[in-house]
Amino acid sequence: MRNRRSVHNSLMINYVLFSVILGVIGFLVYENMYDAREEYISRTLPMVEASQLIRNDWESIPYETVQSFGGYIQVLDKSLNVVFSRGSGMEKAKVSYTEEELLALFYEGNGSGYHSLAPFVSPEGREYRLLVTIPGGAVMKESRLVKTNAEITEVFTGLLIEGFLWFAAAFLLSLWLYGRITGRRITNPLTDVSRELAQIAEGRGGKRLFFRANKELMDLQLHFNRMADRLEQAETAKRRLEEGRRRLMMDISHDLKTPITTIQGYAEVLRLGMEQDEEQRLKYANRIHAKARFIASLVDDLFELTKLESTELSYERKIGDLAELCRTAAADLYDSFERKGITLDIRIPESPVMLSYHEGLMHRAISNLLTNALKYNKEGAHVWLELEASDEGILLTVGDDGPGISDSVRDTVFEPFVRGDQARRSDGGSGLGLAIARSSVERHAGQIWLDPEAEGTVVHIRLTKT
Ligand code: ATP
Ligand code: MG
Repeated sequence: MRNRRSVHNSLMINYVLFSVILGVIGFLVYENMYDAREEYISRTLPMVEASQLIRNDWESIPYETVQSFGGYIQVLDKSLNVVFSRGSGMEKAKVSYTEEELLALFYEGNGSGYHSLAPFVSPEGREYRLLVTIPGGAVMKESRLVKTNAEITEVFTGLLIEGFLWFAAAFLLSLWLYGRITGRRITNPLTDVSRELAQIAEGRGGKRLFFRANKELMDLQLHFNRMADRLEQAETAKRRLEEGRRRLMMDISHDLKTPITTIQGYAEVLRLGMEQDEEQRLKYANRIHAKARFIASLVDDLFELTKLESTELSYERKIGDLAELCRTAAADLYDSFERKGITLDIRIPESPVMLSYHEGLMHRAISNLLTNALKYNKEGAHVWLELEASDEGILLTVGDDGPGISDSVRDTVFEPFVRGDQARRSDGGSGLGLAIARSSVERHAGQIWLDPEAEGTVVHIRLTKT
């Protein structure tokens, strides 16, 4: 699956995501601080509530908090007489109460300060009540509001600093994470691209990139891979060309060397007058002549092929009757076929087949195919030359029912210097005939191919009308 999200969108989404995370962290830290503050406050609150102060041993009642607010505690017996009291500001304190008086203390807005009352039963089974009184002005209803003293400030400052530190840590962590996650989608692919580019610059390329990233980077990857493909193709083509040229040079030198050595040998014998027999000398001279002719024709063919493959030279085409050309090419070799006892069957339309072609090249191609049929077939073989014309163009076939082209060279037979074993043995050809035929046909933007199903050797040429 390709990620089509752009870097811009990705960055934005990440940013929003991390802002939300940061917000949540901030909220949690605040919550935590708030809870800690509440807990601290509630720990101090019970110390002014009567129910929290009840002790069986009255002397050990913790009245210090009440006292620090300027208040006092009183233990009342069943008939509401004060039987025990501690604290400060007791000057105006009553020594006994009625139920009404006691109740009146808890009326809202009576302005008499803070009161808290709790009943309890002593171990002996007697009923008492503990009354906490903090005179008005010294304390509000809730002690927590009063306790804004240095201690609370200190504690809260501590909490604030702690919360801030937590938040700062979370902020830095998420910042780091944001950087990493965002970076992974952008930096890593860029690093890959950069590394592979460096490799290519050093001529060691060849790898393709397969990362997943945002749209822009995926595009970059696509272009990079295409470029790498192109470079590789160019490299391979160049190598193949160089290899072809090297092989061609080797083939040429090899093919020239053999006849030249033969010529040298015979010429040496003649030059030194080693052979007295006139007839023998004539034979040597003939061999020299034959080899020289072979060399001349090889060089001619090579020249021809080089010309055909050169892109600078152009061959001008003319409209002409291809049927007539076929008949001429066949007529040129007719005698040779007859002498070898091979039947040549010509199937060419009576009416002219008009086409735009280069006469010399097409003649050469057809006669090369016919020469091969003549050369590689034995007496009694059957060879045919067929021309079929259609609206699109022509199909020309040169076929025989002979031994066929051996499998080892079938695929490459149209390349220069490729020869079958039998041709090599007889030392007859240079292996350029089919290469020249192919180049000639390709000069006409046509195709030439070997019929893969045929028994013997069947070569087709197709030219289209332009
Ligand atoms: P050149 O044509 O340059 O004199 P050549 O005939 O050896 O030399 P090509 O015409 O290119 O070279 O043919 C290549 C090879 O294909 C031949 O050496 C031969 O082995 C094989 N070949 C070509 N035509 C036939 C055929 N009609 N029957 C059998 N083998 C063939
Ligand atoms: Mg040939």
